[in-house]
Amino acid sequence: MRLLVVEDDVNLNRQLAEALKEAGYVVDSAVDGEEGHFLGDTEPYDAVVLDIGLPKMDGISVLEAWRRAGRKMPVLILTARDRWSDKVAGIDAGADDYVAKPFHMEEILARIRALVRRSAGHASNEIECGPVRLDMRASRVTVDGLAIKLTSHEFRLLAYMMHHKGRVVSRTELVEHLYDQDFDRDSNTIEVFVGRLRKKLGIDIIQTVRGLGYTVGLPGEAG
Ligand code: CA
Repeated sequence: MRLLVVEDDVNLNRQLAEALKEAGYVVDSAVDGEEGHFLGDTEPYDAVVLDIGLPKMDGISVLEAWRRAGRKMPVLILTARDRWSDKVAGIDAGADDYVAKPFHMEEILARIRALVRRSAGHASNEIECGPVRLDMRASRVTVDGLAIKLTSHEFRLLAYMMHHKGRVVSRTELVEHLYDQDFDRDSNTIEVFVGRLRKKLGIDIIQTVRGLGYTVGLPGEAG
């Protein structure tokens, strides 16, 4: 899952990015509204954390511009504690949720988890496919109840595919959602990671759809 953080307070931006990275997301950061708008307009994000008070272009204008352009990613806005009107304006502009400053990082993490899973059509933090169970809150994967040790990259790959289970996900889409903007992307590496995941899970829930990509499902369920 790839996220965008738009926050002009450099310290807060860094804290948000670090906490989200630690929680297993790939994070791009922007420190003003123009840069944030550009990234959100051109890169595919699974969710965005957007401050309202930003230099160059305020958060409400950024959000309105994204929605006008048809950008549908979930957006969590950050508002000042006493500015109830910002919350109303933000939600009317297309925000999916808000958190007032100052906040506890755990609240941001919980709300981002909820936005990401709901936009993929899941009501719960636990997504299952046969004996495989993904727990987004605990960043844990089990097969038949036994914990499987995955690297953060393998976890991100499986989490993305399980959020979109039943749908064919292309290698390009995976690359775009698993690496940040500065990463030297090579879609061939996806194949290597899928191979490792299959081996570690010990059950083939990741099926190759020739020429198109991958789909998560039980054998016989694909297509
Ligand atoms: Ca600000």
